[in-house]
Amino acid sequence: MKLILLGAPGAGKGTVAKLLTAIDGSVQISTGDILRGAVKDGTELGKEAEGYMKRGDLVPDSLIMGIMGKRLQEPDCAKGFLLDGFPRTIPQSEALTEMLTKLDIKLDMAVNIDVPRDVILDRLCTRRTCNNQDCQAIYNVKSMPTKVEGICDKCGSPVIQRDDETEEAISHRLETYNEKTAPLIGFYEKAGLLKSITGTSSDVVVAAIKSELGI
Ligand code: AMP
Repeated sequence: MKLILLGAPGAGKGTVAKLLTAIDGSVQISTGDILRGAVKDGTELGKEAEGYMKRGDLVPDSLIMGIMGKRLQEPDCAKGFLLDGFPRTIPQSEALTEMLTKLDIKLDMAVNIDVPRDVILDRLCTRRTCNNQDCQAIYNVKSMPTKVEGICDKCGSPVIQRDDETEEAISHRLETYNEKTAPLIGFYEKAGLLKSITGTSSDVVVAAIKSELGI
């Protein structure tokens, strides 16, 4: 499947993407994960992106398109891809449309995961993420704690609260989402690709996507 996953930070895009990859081997492409990996490795990209990310600002479109231009042409994308956290601005959506046309790739759908703001805020404040960039498993201190406190169940690495998940950064990320990313809902509606799903359970969202795709 070839999907864009839209939704505010904390809507569950990453969790839904991970569940969908298990269905048909489509790859999850998370620009946030790629950027966090680059910051951890101290690459040029990481150095450029770090300040924006810590503040909860978006990284410039040119950096993101540089990453995605290459990533979408890697062989593992042939089976399908789940775009998680990209595109995030209208210029990114326009550039993606152009890129996909050139590569002769057709999207199935842009899924908007719609979750109430109070649920989002609570989730982001209690979310914990595995610090191993190859794992980046997601936990929640209330609803999905690790078996051993602070240690990832899957790989044994430390589980941390992300730098951009302080209360101040979270509220800034949500403002940025409303201003820059929410307009993408209209963009994909116009393109005839939008499917909005209201739901706080990732399993329900996955079931709705499967039913929409007829799988
Ligand atoms: P995420 O894990 O998707 O919430 O992304 C974490 C941070 O990475 C965001 O707050 C942005 O600073 C940056 N980021 C991730 N994806 C994008 C994107 N498509 N455009 C701009 N910045 C991004």
